[in-house]
This record gives sequence, C-alpha cells and structure tokens, in this order.
Amino acid sequence: MTAEIEISEVSKQFGALTVLDRLSLSIPAHEFVVFLGPSGCGKSTLLRMIAGLESVDEGEIRINGRRIDDLPPGERGVAMVFQSYALYPHMTVRQNMAFGLENIGVDKAAIATRITEAARMLEIGHLLDRKPAQLSGGQRQRVAIGRAVVKEPKAFLFDEPLSNLDAALRTRTRIELAQLHQRLKSTMVFVTHDQVEAMTLADRIVVMNNRRIEQIGTPMDIYERPATRFVAGFVGAPA
Ligand code: ADP
Ligand code: MG
Repeated sequence: MTAEIEISEVSKQFGALTVLDRLSLSIPAHEFVVFLGPSGCGKSTLLRMIAGLESVDEGEIRINGRRIDDLPPGERGVAMVFQSYALYPHMTVRQNMAFGLENIGVDKAAIATRITEAARMLEIGHLLDRKPAQLSGGQRQRVAIGRAVVKEPKAFLFDEPLSNLDAALRTRTRIELAQLHQRLKSTMVFVTHDQVEAMTLADRIVVMNNRRIEQIGTPMDIYERPATRFVAGFVGAPA
C-alpha cells in the first residue's frame, strides 16, 4: 500500500497573500520525504491540499496518476496526523480509531482486527477504553498515529507530529515512525521546522522558504552541499 505523489506547479493564495508559488515535486512510492522550513512557509497548507482539507487553486496534484482535485478526502488513500492530535474528546480511544472506517466500507470484524494490530504496534492496547483527557501528550500522539494506521493509507501526511512532545519522547517516537515506514511500506510525507527530525527521518529533504523550494536532496546533500545561503543557515552547516 503505497503512493506516488506528483505535485505540479501548485500555487496557493489566501486573499492577497501568496503562500505557495508554482511548487513542483515528484514523491516516489515508499519515499520518506520531509518538508523542512520555518514557520509560515506554507508546509501545513501543502499537506492540507494533498489531504483535501484545502483546495488546489492552481496547478495539480496526482496520487498514483489520478488527479485528486475532485476526489473527496476519504477517497484519496491518505491519512493525516496533526501536531495537536485532533482526537475527538467525547470518544474513547477505540472509538476515535474506528471513526470513519465504516464509512469507507470496512466491516466491523475488520475494524476490530485493524485496531488490535495497530494498538499492539503502537503499544496503546491498554488505553483503548480511555478518553483523550485521560492520556498524556505522548499517548495522545500515539493514538493519533494509530488512527491513521487503521485507515491503511497509501500515504501518511504528518504535520509536525512531534512538536508537542518532550525531547525523550520525540526521539523515541521518531524511531518508531521510521520503523512504521519500514513495516508498512507506505509513502511518508512529513513536515517540520526541526532540522534534526528532517536529518534523521528523511530519504529526501525538501527545504522550503518564502513560498518556494530552496533545495531538494538527501540529508547528506543538504548538509554538505547547501545550495543557498538560506539552506546553509537553516541546517546549521558551513556555507
Ligand atoms: P507553516 O505550516 O509552514 O507554518 P502554513 O501553511 O500554516 O505555514 O501557513 C502559511 C501562510 O499562510 C501563513 O502566513 C499563514 O498565516 C497563512 N494561512 C494559512 N492558512 C490560512 C487561511 N486559511 N487563511 C488565511 N491565511 C492562511
Ligand atoms: Mg504548520
């Protein structure tokens, strides 16, 4: 279950503000790609466009060759994990994970199996009957990741999922995300402003700044051969 994502000449404006300016990038199936850039450079907007939470005004996005502009979010084969977890507070963990699966035609037995497997993978089996308020931040984020896993998406979209975790938990969760990628073979699109996350997780890093892509390369490329002064400054390597 994996997806090739093609972003072609995508622009986005909010009123007079241009957030993305003719951005193009091809993400091959199974890649772990990290969009790295400062706050406000359009990372979340781009992810939201892929997920279908924001319209594509100019340019196009294709998933496995299919234009997604008119495809409802639930039919795109992607699942998003938010920095703020975005769990439903009135539902248990199990209900949070099951939510939406029936609508996409998964039967009850399959839902139960998927939840059991994801809960084992993420070590949240003992939390299934709790509500989000009874969980720590780290546990909430594992549930949010679990809720994406049970959708069995072709691509995961992560919007700064580790930013609200303390340092130790951030490192641990980072390692687990890398393992998840190995195990599930899905495409991973991860956005962050954190250089260490990008360097340790990415097959390729896309450095963004000021509405556009500054450089695309492996962590080694970016670190050893920064293409612009901005990249050199942002990744902390000598120019
Ligand atoms: P990042 O995730 O890189 O921090 P965002 O994609 O959230 O950046 O935002 C990029 C820019 O677009 C910011 O200036 C933000 O204020 C603006 N923006 C994002 N969403 C909206 C919106 N719905 N309406 C107006 N402006 C927005
Ligand atoms: Mg953001």
